[in-house]
Amino acid sequence: MRSISEIIVHCTATPADRHVTTTDVDKWHRQRGFNSIGYHYLIYLDGSIHRGRDIKQIGAHCLGHNANSIGVCYVGGLDHNNQPLDTRTTAQRNSLLKLLRQLKTSYPKATIHGHRDFAAKECPCFDATAEYSNIK
Ligand SMILES: [Zn+2]
Repeated sequence: MRSISEIIVHCTATPADRHVTTTDVDKWHRQRGFNSIGYHYLIYLDGSIHRGRDIKQIGAHCLGHNANSIGVCYVGGLDHNNQPLDTRTTAQRNSLLKLLRQLKTSYPKATIHGHRDFAAKECPCFDATAEYSNIK
């Protein structure tokens, strides 16, 4: 098993209310030259949690941090003018929190971050590090 030291939160950078599936992201990431969807989990607008890449495999979601991390992504992150916005639905917020708590239970030493902590990006369009700092 890989050693997991970081859990990194992302958004799909798609407009609020646009339904996006793991099949869509898998296609986009293959077009970018990845082997498959780069995230390990994708949370749909309705809050359902879907598996992406197998957690045993190194993801493709955060340059320089993939080897020892898990990538978690929610669908959304842009307003209707394609500007960065925290578009998480209530169901997505609940599911994201639930999933991160589960992952922290499985990987107690892992720290939770937003993609933007490691790159000059807005992703995931909210301060994930602060929001989830109380998850033990
Ligand atoms: Zn990201």
